[in-house]
Amino acid sequence: CGIFAYLSYFVEKDRKYITDTLLNGLSRLEYRGYDSSGIAIAGDTEEETVIIKQVGKVSALRALVDSQDLDMSKTYSVQTSISHTRWATHGQPSPVNAHPHRSSPENEFTIVHNGIITNYKEITTLLRNKGYVFETDTDTEVAAKLLKYVFDSQRGNPISFPDLAKAVIKELEGAFAFLIKSVHYPGQIIAARRGSPLLIGIKTAESLNVDFVDVEFAESTTSVAASSINEEKAPAYAKRAQSRTFTRADGTSQPLEYFLASDPSAIIEHTRRVLYLEDEDIAHISDKGDLHIYRMRRDDGMSSIRATSRT
Ligand code: GLU
Repeated sequence: CGIFAYLSYFVEKDRKYITDTLLNGLSRLEYRGYDSSGIAIAGDTEEETVIIKQVGKVSALRALVDSQDLDMSKTYSVQTSISHTRWATHGQPSPVNAHPHRSSPENEFTIVHNGIITNYKEITTLLRNKGYVFETDTDTEVAAKLLKYVFDSQRGNPISFPDLAKAVIKELEGAFAFLIKSVHYPGQIIAARRGSPLLIGIKTAESLNVDFVDVEFAESTTSVAASSINEEKAPAYAKRAQSRTFTRADGTSQPLEYFLASDPSAIIEHTRRVLYLEDEDIAHISDKGDLHIYRMRRDDGMSSIRATSRT
């Protein structure tokens, strides 16, 4: 099982390149074991994200992608595409149970997950009582639906993507690495982990001497244990930091690509600048490509889903 994402900011990439990058990334992760796979490829808008899932090898997914009538020459200057190889723990290997999973009925949230959410039954019951209909046999689906539930419950008081992720993740038990995207947060990505590995590779042509910015709700001062594959080539990442902005002094954004994966083997062909997320980290990449990493603390003041659900 593995996760791979390719995000590009302020650099023109065509859909062929994006799709090939995803499928190659998944192929590099195949040795971890898998029974099915799936991709969410960028469209012109978040709503137009294309989801393709297939049982079997990544080559079978590739064949299915090739058989679709997708315009592969379309280019995007900002895009966030995610993908997954699955090793089924809950629910048979099938196209429906393969990831990415989405929050129905309007597909507002798209998620890939490695690991097991052990309290999924409890959350399923809670959400069923709220009228949610479940379409897969996976534990992962609760995370997609819980994102929608918490987002909807905050409508009067719009919540940031990291705050939403934090509110949802603190309700989950078990092990996970997640990538999340949403029509409500176009161009943004959440990457979070507990127990399952997740790395962020960063590729940019420009200097990485970027500002270190204090993050408002980073309660912990040790947020990122930066660990790089080649420290000499990546001195900027041999430091502890909670945040990196990639905005130039003149206010414009610099071209930037991210490769997120369960394993460095899927990243090193693209970049040697790698951050290993630690347990309880929530990384947020903004629509400008800025990266902030928040360390979860379980006793913070966020109102919880259980408290909300009582009303
Ligand atoms: N528990 C999830 C599922 O069965 C994720 C499995 C995985 O890590 O691939 O769908």
